[in-house]
Amino acid sequence: MNYQRFFEEAIDQLHAERRYRIFADLERIVGRFPQAIWRNNGDAKEITVWCSNDYLGMGQHTDVIAAHQNAAGKMGSGAGGTRNISGTNHPLVELEHELADLHGKEAALVFTSGFVSNEAAISTIARLLPNCLILSDELNHASMIEGVRRSGAEKKVFRHNDLAHLESLLQGAGRERAKLIVFESVYSMDGDIAPISAIADLAEKYNAMTYIDEVHAVGMYGPRGGGITEREGLADRIDIIEGTLAKAFGTLGGYITGRQSVVDAVRSYAPGFIFTTALPPSIAAAATASIRHLKASQAERDAQQRQAAQTKRILGNAGLPVMASETHIVPVLVGDPELCKMASDRLLGKHNIYIQPINYPTVARGTERLRITPTPFHNDDLISTLKDALVETWDALGIPYATSGRPAVEKSERIIPLIVPAAGG
Ligand SMILES: *Cc1c(COP(=O)(O)O)cnc(C)c1O
Repeated sequence: MNYQRFFEEAIDQLHAERRYRIFADLERIVGRFPQAIWRNNGDAKEITVWCSNDYLGMGQHTDVIAAHQNAAGKMGSGAGGTRNISGTNHPLVELEHELADLHGKEAALVFTSGFVSNEAAISTIARLLPNCLILSDELNHASMIEGVRRSGAEKKVFRHNDLAHLESLLQGAGRERAKLIVFESVYSMDGDIAPISAIADLAEKYNAMTYIDEVHAVGMYGPRGGGITEREGLADRIDIIEGTLAKAFGTLGGYITGRQSVVDAVRSYAPGFIFTTALPPSIAAAATASIRHLKASQAERDAQQRQAAQTKRILGNAGLPVMASETHIVPVLVGDPELCKMASDRLLGKHNIYIQPINYPTVARGTERLRITPTPFHNDDLISTLKDALVETWDALGIPYATSGRPAVEKSERIIPLIVPAAGG
């Protein structure tokens, strides 16, 4: 038996489908966000990162770094064990209080990542409910899908943000059966937002529990960074709010918030929580500092929205196919996996701009794209440089523009061309 062969064949298949991934070797530079050093074939050069999920640059905020260093200096590097075996480091207790307060919930529970929080919480909640039916949005993140799978519960997938479809599935199950609706607030590849209020209405009407992933919204939306549910005053209508500490909060970890009973049950029954070492105290302290800062400061949120809108406008005016997005996420359609990869390679190699190609299975085939995430630190000069680099790349590779061609003269009053990707896939 040649074991090796199976792994080589699996990798060959990815190459054949143009889905093999190569990670850029990057070194971020504190104080110079979004610049980083890129190492390739023995060379090192400075590049601009345009696809970071450190959405507000909080990973380099002085308060966050100071909290991290201070806790590490006082309490050391690791947590020392699982919470069951070794107790809870005090910074983690503080962090959970901070998170429960952020979402106006009774309790919070922190996990080692957002992925783990979804996998552990969804599977445990659905397993503890007798004969639970899970209703899951078709574009839910892989971590939610893993949670649904592991629960062993029956699952029905509803079409993306489709209330009529969701209602028909709820109706089919009836009021008496246990039901859990799992969905996201901001969907990270298209930048669209779920109809949260209407989903909460349906949940009430059919007596279902609701679980929302606010990973791409916490820190960035709502007057205190409590996400879309905070912005729309809906936090108390959703049973469980899940989030990450690794994106806008710039650190690491995931969490759920909700009623004491639910959170306590997950704490007590979820293997993905129980049998793994807790986050280090330094990370917990850094996360708390970041959350506290963003609860009080609106400046980062405003600047991010301003620069995201500016990016959409400038790229759109250049005729680039900016896809419709209601949020800070700026997807630009390429529509072909090979071209998408080539565009990304050219941007990095020739223009010192890093934007990861987004191909199938992350998005539907034919909707391959560059997913651009402007932050408060992507200033107007960087946006202008990005636009020139994209136009050069689009021309060099023959990637279709939004309209028949690139306008000879830019006019600021031109309407931003919006392209909606084909549904499903
Ligand atoms: C990134 C992501 C997660 C996982 O969060 P991590 O903290 O990175 O593990 C969960 N849900 C969605 C929608 C995500 O995009």
